[in-house]
Amino acid sequence: MNPHYPLVAERAAHRCEYCRAPEVIFNVPFEVDHIIPIGKGGEDASANFALACRACNLWKSDAVTAVDPQTSQETPLFNPRQHIWQDHFEAQSEPPFRLTGKTPTGRATIARLRLNAPLQLAARTQWIVLGIYP
Ligand SMILES: [Zn+2]
Repeated sequence: MNPHYPLVAERAAHRCEYCRAPEVIFNVPFEVDHIIPIGKGGEDASANFALACRACNLWKSDAVTAVDPQTSQETPLFNPRQHIWQDHFEAQSEPPFRLTGKTPTGRATIARLRLNAPLQLAARTQWIVLGIYP
């Protein structure tokens, strides 16, 4: 396990800092994401770590920007250390509980990380049923 996991997981209250998935219902620990990959100049330091579920970490990969589908502009991805989640995303209160991007960064992140993919929506619905989302 990543030696930084305990600090990063506690700081994130054991939620994926991108999709807000609750770690408690998964059978593996979430991952320590380098928000800015080492290969792109990011530091191996707390200020560059985010807790990410497997799906978000896979889709984010080494990206730091993505295209905002509304403007077609390359846009910085959501940075959990610099941005406030609620400023960039809103979860619908009705099924299928899609996330809406409130900013170019929110929209680009939803697109890049597939935050409204069918499996994400199905999982989010179950988290809401269980009363553990957001
Ligand atoms: Zn996630």
